[in-house]
Amino acid sequence: MTDVATRRPRVGVMGGTFDPIHHGHLVAASEVAQHHDLDEVIFVPTGEPWMKRTVTDAEHRYLMTVVATASNPRFTVSRVDLERSGPTYTIDTLRDIRTQRPDAELFFISGADAIAQILEWKDVDELWDLARFVAVSRPGHALSISGLPERSVSSLEVPALAISSTDCRDRVSRGLPVWYLVPDGVVQYISKHHLYRSQT
Ligand code: ATP
Ligand code: MG
Repeated sequence: MTDVATRRPRVGVMGGTFDPIHHGHLVAASEVAQHHDLDEVIFVPTGEPWMKRTVTDAEHRYLMTVVATASNPRFTVSRVDLERSGPTYTIDTLRDIRTQRPDAELFFISGADAIAQILEWKDVDELWDLARFVAVSRPGHALSISGLPERSVSSLEVPALAISSTDCRDRVSRGLPVWYLVPDGVVQYISKHHLYRSQT
């Protein structure tokens, strides 16, 4: 048997609030896919985030993620976190994706800021069995992976994009453009549905 025949599909899992999805998310996913030779990246919008402010309706966040990823044949979007009730924990996301894709080798993609909190995550010991973790560098967020298993967590520098969803929401609420910070279809989606007009 050749290597090609035995190779397990390599699948990235990119969790996020995606409120809204922006080019920082897309570049990060694309760079990790390139570097780790991934066949697919599944974007997973969170249900009810457990440590965040009130977020935009899940269906809007899901649809913006679909719009943003539609043109890339290797990018897909999963509803697993939206369909589970209660707060979203990474362990549950990975268990659900593992059930759907038992053959795949999973790579959880996250910003360095989120990975730094990994030791506080629910059922942390089980996480390492489910996926490898790739921490992407992000402007202003240095990665400290001391205390994390070296085999399971790696970091990758991506072109620095100082874009955050918080800034995008803030700009929309102040009447400033978000063109080129988010994909064109997302600019139009935000405008069509009057999202982020008044931000608290
Ligand atoms: P918010 O400002 O509301 O916190 P965000 O821009 O951080 O939103 P999230 O949906 O919270 O977006 O992020 C999902 C994942 O993408 C996180 O792991 C986060 O660290 C990562 N990420 C967000 N923005 C960037 C960026 N510009 N470059 C690299 N990674 C990013
Ligand atoms: Mg964030």
